[in-house]
Formats: sequence, structure tokens, C-alpha cells
Amino acid sequence: MNHNADDGLGLVREAASVLAGYGSSLGPLAPWHESRDPYSWTVAELLLRRTNRVAASRAFADLTTAYPDWASLAGAEREVVAERVGWAGLRNQRSKQLVRLADAVVEEHGGELPGELEALRALPGVGPYIADAIRLHVLDQPALPVDGGVQRVLRRVMGLPIPSATRGSTPYRDGPVTAARAVIVSGRSAAELRAIHLGLLSISWGVCIKTTPRCGECPLRPHCVVGQRAGGGAVRAV
Ligand code: SF4
Repeated sequence: MNHNADDGLGLVREAASVLAGYGSSLGPLAPWHESRDPYSWTVAELLLRRTNRVAASRAFADLTTAYPDWASLAGAEREVVAERVGWAGLRNQRSKQLVRLADAVVEEHGGELPGELEALRALPGVGPYIADAIRLHVLDQPALPVDGGVQRVLRRVMGLPIPSATRGSTPYRDGPVTAARAVIVSGRSAAELRAIHLGLLSISWGVCIKTTPRCGECPLRPHCVVGQRAGGGAVRAV
């Protein structure tokens, strides 16, 4: 069956309703999900960049135990921070980013993360994904953070191939995914979007995995082009 862009966005709309219910039944999926603490969320999202969730979770625990707030991280020696996160493959660049960000929050914002999108994006290392995550989960503003995993789920729902990272279609430069994000965010509260985001994370981490999506176990299957093709079982990735 051929699907056009309108069909794809219609499926996204249906999937979002399912995700709102599914996500609200989930508990925290990661240690930083247990609070709305701006420091925890920002550090965690920086650690997650190009790092798997298990390694990022362990590095998060080490780092926030040693440096529990912006002020302690801002005063840290970069080499010591690098030692703490180095085992997770986060050694040089990430430790530099963490300390630079903490410096900026302390020096430019008096130790408080700013609440406006423009000011958030002006902070070192804060791209559109981290800014959306902070807006949604910390500042209670309507937004939907889209990382590579969420991009994969949304593209499969719409029946679109997964772009290769080397071809440069990052989530915030992906036209169909940007349209899907707008459809999901439109008219929804931050609380509903938080549930949808948790649902998308859970599915991208556990079911709609890169190589072989397990469509038979996925609540989105009736609203997903790839899931409909799969019938009841797993399918090869598209
Ligand atoms: S039905 Fe399959 S392809 Fe669609 S979102 Fe779920 S796991 Fe992914």
C-alpha cells in the first residue's frame, strides 16, 4: 500500500493519542526522570549525546554524586571530570562541554538555568534537543524533544526509510519528522506531551530498535505503516 504525507501525519495523530495513554502508565525510565531538577536533566542529556543509555546512566550517577550542582561543576578541574566520565567513553570533549556549560550558567545566569528558549540555546552545548527536553521536563512548557530513536519511531509510523547518519538527516533537520512533531505538540499540554515523550522513549529503547523492530510487542502497531506490514511479528528494519 502507498502512503502519502497526509496519511503519515494522520497515523502520527492516532499514534500520539495511544502514546499519551501508554506513556502515562510508565514510571521513570532513567534516574534523572525521577525529578524535575534542571541540573540533573541538563547534565544527563549532555551525557546521552552519542552515548548509550546504560553508560550515560552510570556516568550520570558518578558525576552528580561528585558534583551535585552547577556551582560545584563550574569549579571542577576539567581533567578530574574527564577521569570521572572517561570509562564511559566521554573523556575529553564531553568533560570540556560539561564544565563550560556550568561556567556559563554560574557566570551569566547566577547559577539558575534560564527559562527562555533563546537564552537556553545560547548556552554552550545546548542544541535544540536539549533545549526541548529542558522546556518540557523541567520548565513545564509544551515541546517534544526528538532524538535519533524518536525520529526512527516517527519515520516508521509514517512508513519512511530511516536516513543514515552519514547522509546528515538529523532529527531537527528532517522535514517529515518536524511536521510530525508539530502535529503532536499542537494543542497539547506539557503534561500530556511528557507522557507522549516517555512513551516514545520507551518504544525506541525497547521495541522499535534499530536493527529489527519488534512490532508484535508494540502498542503503535495498528497506527504504524511498518507495523501494519509486519502483521504480528518482527520485521527487518526500514
Ligand atoms: S509497530 Fe514496529 S515499526 Fe512501528 S513503531 Fe512499533 S516497533 Fe516500530
